[in-house]
Amino acid sequence: MDQADLTRHTPLMRQYFAAKAEYPDTLLFFRMGDFYELFYDDARKAARLLDITLTQRGESAGAPIPMAGVPYHAMESYLAKLVRAGQSVAICEQIGDPNGKGPMERKVVRVVTPGTLTDEALLPERRDNLLLAIADGKRGFGLAWVDLAGGRFVLSEVADADALAAELARLAPAETLVCEDVAWPSAVATLTGLRKRPPWHFDETSARRELTRFFNTRDLSGFGAGSVPLAIAAAGCLLGYLQETQKAALPHLTGLAVESADETVAMDAATRRNLELDTHPSGDARFTLLGVLDSTITPMGSRVLRRWLHRPLRDHATLQLRHQSLGALAESGALMPLREKLHAIGDLERILARVALRSARPRDLATLRDGLAAAPSLRKMIANVDSPLLHQLLQHLGEHQDMVRLLQAAIVERPPALLREGGAIADGYDAELDELRRLSTHADQYLIELEQRERAATGIATLKVGYNRVHGYYIELGKAQAGKAPAHYTRRQTTKNAERYITGELKTFEDKVLSAKERSLMRERALYDLVLDALIEKLAPLKQAAQALAELDVLAALAERADALNWSRPQLVDEPCIAIERGRHPVIEAVRTEPFEPNDLALDDSHRMLVITGPNMGGKSTYMRQNALIVLLAHIGSCVPATSARMGPIDRIFTRIGAGDDLARGQSTFMVEMSETANILHNATERSLVLMDEVGRGTSTYDGLALARGAAVHLATVNRAFTLFATHYFELTELALQFDAIANVHLDAVEYHDTKQGDQLVFMHAVKEGPANRSFGLQVAALAGLPKAVIADAKRTLTQLEQSTHGNVGMRKHDGANPASPQSDLFAAKPPDPRLTELAETLRGIDPDSMTPREALDVLYRLRKNLPAS
Ligand code: ADP
Repeated sequence: MDQADLTRHTPLMRQYFAAKAEYPDTLLFFRMGDFYELFYDDARKAARLLDITLTQRGESAGAPIPMAGVPYHAMESYLAKLVRAGQSVAICEQIGDPNGKGPMERKVVRVVTPGTLTDEALLPERRDNLLLAIADGKRGFGLAWVDLAGGRFVLSEVADADALAAELARLAPAETLVCEDVAWPSAVATLTGLRKRPPWHFDETSARRELTRFFNTRDLSGFGAGSVPLAIAAAGCLLGYLQETQKAALPHLTGLAVESADETVAMDAATRRNLELDTHPSGDARFTLLGVLDSTITPMGSRVLRRWLHRPLRDHATLQLRHQSLGALAESGALMPLREKLHAIGDLERILARVALRSARPRDLATLRDGLAAAPSLRKMIANVDSPLLHQLLQHLGEHQDMVRLLQAAIVERPPALLREGGAIADGYDAELDELRRLSTHADQYLIELEQRERAATGIATLKVGYNRVHGYYIELGKAQAGKAPAHYTRRQTTKNAERYITGELKTFEDKVLSAKERSLMRERALYDLVLDALIEKLAPLKQAAQALAELDVLAALAERADALNWSRPQLVDEPCIAIERGRHPVIEAVRTEPFEPNDLALDDSHRMLVITGPNMGGKSTYMRQNALIVLLAHIGSCVPATSARMGPIDRIFTRIGAGDDLARGQSTFMVEMSETANILHNATERSLVLMDEVGRGTSTYDGLALARGAAVHLATVNRAFTLFATHYFELTELALQFDAIANVHLDAVEYHDTKQGDQLVFMHAVKEGPANRSFGLQVAALAGLPKAVIADAKRTLTQLEQSTHGNVGMRKHDGANPASPQSDLFAAKPPDPRLTELAETLRGIDPDSMTPREALDVLYRLRKNLPAS
């Protein structure tokens, strides 16, 4: 808005525009009395996002001003809603003299952005809240993220857009800073809380300069950040943003950590989703691995566990230390008392961040005090447990007796919510404060006496002495008594039912008390600041202690889970293998009432792939997923749901699952499927675990079969990855005859006849050697509600088919050799079998009201794949 325009506005609105100009992309909460008001576009946006009324405030520059407001005392809940929607909010407070002339002075005192929350009320308790910056370059992407509420600043680099998407899925940032001049891949472009920054914010040279200045170091090599230039560039942008939005020092960001991709068992975004690590399609977190695994007691422990789950490690030594500690904890008998004691420990990590930002509230300090005070007894409990890892954690925990003594002396047992209410600093801690408090408490006694005296003097029994914030102390008479007020009463205020007066004596008293109260609050603020100073001085060891407590909590939780769920310690070995005995699916076992059928898995250097067949609903995907989850659990340091599990080095877990059951989504699904498959074929190694579920289902039967077969052969012979390959294409079971590395297993079902219900199918869920050899398509179709007559008809056809001898029925002739298949003779094409065409005709007779063409096709499919092989 130009100058000329501005002068037509009221002074208040001019003030508003000046503040808003500095925060064009941020909602401005403009304090007016008991409300924060939003104007113009901000008001429209807030009204929509907060579901509050859009009103108008008078006129300015000849036009009504759209306005929406929230009461100041309820501000937190509105803020929470806005940041969840990815919005940032600048809070502009009244800071001037309320009795001054013209509009009161106002200033933006803080900017709340989704990625920089530190307020307890605004933060999700059990997950990290991250601010991320991404820089792009020729060699890939640099990432830098900050967990401001936990005090972590981390860098990493990735090679391509797929790896970037995987990191985004892992980190799930609340807010992301990217360069405005770059065409970002969709994984970035679709993030909520995306902020575009100008290119010069990502300049590496100035980033290095700013970061070394911020951390007060000579260079960044001490952090191991010598060779991650792109991540440094991102970190520079991040730091600039932090300094712009946080109007405070950030002493808890003490250094950079660099995460390297080869330390972790990599999982892409689809795999995290497919394995349902911490999200479930139903939205119910209980049905996720984390839901079953997370019995941590402290919120900070819960956050560490989630981080571990999303970042499984490759290093066997680290993992074995964790595995060992779980057993040692369980055997020592210390587990239960330890977990009991952890209830006394609050969210120290976040409290320390607020201490560093000087926004810690009195109750934070009380929680910190009680948490640190509990440390010695925790130490005692663990001292005798035979575990090197636990002893290392004890060392990090340290002793903090001086801080405990300080906090015990300085902070009252149960402090008020806010410092400004006073009463947070304990009596006896400071003589001056005690004296000021004595003055103001005596005031109460004095006021009671004054009231009695004035009642006696005036003869008005209803006379009251009171106080309010605006008018100060007063003597109040009801309207009816007002006439009897003595001459020395000076009127101060008139209310609906009463008159309020002041006297010379009360005025003198008021000055003295108010100043005592004011001075006592000031004194308290000063003392509180000194306590914060003392804590900030010890921030590094305190942070380390919090981290140690969080990890102790995680290990204790994993030990508890292993015991409660009857899990066993996995064995990590050097030779390539995945050997699991009586493995179970941790989530399905936990949420279902029926017993879970355990299953084995045996893969080694020369046995690389299982082709898994069996009826729909037989348990194929459960089996595949449970094995991946067992491998994953072992690599975060947890015990596993199996009687024994042995595995060699694993570098990545890939999955190609899903979409199989909704053919209706058609072409785009197929594209996703193919690009995911291509990614796996390009990147899987001999150390990778690959799950392939129904590959090829997104396209026509024959193309799908060719693609599935090509992918399977490539995985088993070129990638040599450990692969579980579930398929409807019965033809793929023949691969086991061709390749030593490939074997068949199947999931069984039993058919029986029930006099009332007719033919029934019971799924055994047991994995057996060899290909599936029964036809269950019809039963499954019956379960799916296909009309009885159609089933009967199809059955007859099928019987005829079964009685005839045939090879690969109905393979469409490809032009020349099957391009995806080196062994094209195996699946040599033959002309369509007329009986199959007849079967298709039968299916076409289905009542169109009860079945969509897609469903009919699906049934045909199932019949087709269950035709016996030659
Ligand atoms: P598929 O992939 O073969 O269609 P699913 O793996 O989806 O089959 O399993 C079908 C149903 O059987 C699921 O409801 C699952 O809970 C149950 N199930 C699978 N495996 C087992 C098992 N080993 N023990 C008990 N129930 C199982």
